[in-house]
Amino acid sequence: MPRFVPYLSKEQQEELRSIANAIVAPGKGILAADESTGTMGKRLSSINVENVEENRRQYRQLLFTAGKELSNNISGVILFHETLYQKADDGTPFVKLLQDNNIIPGIKVDKGVVPLAGSDGECTTQGLDGLSERCAQYKKDGCGFVKWRCVLKIQSHTPSLQAMIENANVLARYASICQQNGLVPIVEPEVLPDGEHDLYTAQRITEEVLAFTYKALADHHVFLEGTLLKPNMVTAGQSCAKKFSAHEIAMATVTALQRTVPAAVPGITFLSGGQSEEDATVNLDAINKCPGRKPWALTFSYGRALQASVLAAWKGSKDNVKSGQEELLKRAKANGEAALGQYAGGVQSAAGGASLFVANHAY
Ligand code: 13P
Repeated sequence: MPRFVPYLSKEQQEELRSIANAIVAPGKGILAADESTGTMGKRLSSINVENVEENRRQYRQLLFTAGKELSNNISGVILFHETLYQKADDGTPFVKLLQDNNIIPGIKVDKGVVPLAGSDGECTTQGLDGLSERCAQYKKDGCGFVKWRCVLKIQSHTPSLQAMIENANVLARYASICQQNGLVPIVEPEVLPDGEHDLYTAQRITEEVLAFTYKALADHHVFLEGTLLKPNMVTAGQSCAKKFSAHEIAMATVTALQRTVPAAVPGITFLSGGQSEEDATVNLDAINKCPGRKPWALTFSYGRALQASVLAAWKGSKDNVKSGQEELLKRAKANGEAALGQYAGGVQSAAGGASLFVANHAY
């Protein structure tokens, strides 16, 4: 038995590398539209729309038909299983709509968080059973990448060693399985913003979590050039009394990433994590303006921070589809500029500076 057994051919590696690089092309990022049916229900109930399949389809149709300009700043969309197989009113599959617009369809493949027994309210993420078969099918059905979200909590004695090891390992197993099926894994170890902790604590814990994550990816021989990282930005806890500037957030974030994320990783696509739309854009811009070594693309993979204004403008009415789409294009453009460190600020949106924080957020 040789000591090293490559699990990807050169061609497979090249395919993964090129998908990952296309997703983080300059000025582009990801629209995370992979809310599970339950999470979508919460979003829809905020605008008094019933959570039925047809309304979810109408909403996603609004997003995916926003216009050619969408692809100026959106390179990939993360879908939920149901959405991958839905069609527009005229019968065009959503997947084709996206592909024709030069946007890569991706899909959430985890099956959600479950409690870690014996821990202080910590969790892991399940969904490895049958993952390879599901990935093979998703690849055939047009996906180029996948997402799996793990969650770590900052409390007085957490994240625990048990939680960091377990979550890092399950992310590495997921990444390896997806790569074998030609899908770029987005590795998402989210340190939740819940808590009173300050910026420094958030930074140190993010560093620790990422260090565990990359050790596990190395142990599992994951091909880093064919992965993307989706981390939290380093921000103080939601209930921290002290407020930090975008520059301080950016410095803490970039420092944590420099210390832990290998230069082989092509891109870092931040989640918005309950920041307001404007804060998520301003902070991404500050991160890109930050001095120092940044060997990876630094861009966005936002759910709430790309959709809050869209939902607020749409309100479930056909008459408002256009204004909902305008909101999406506005935020996508602003974030595209932020990904280049060229956001001038002040883009007005329907949801504006409203906090999008959800305690103990589930996706
Ligand atoms: P938010 O941007 O709403 O935090 O979500 C992005 C995401 O995909 C979380 O898994």
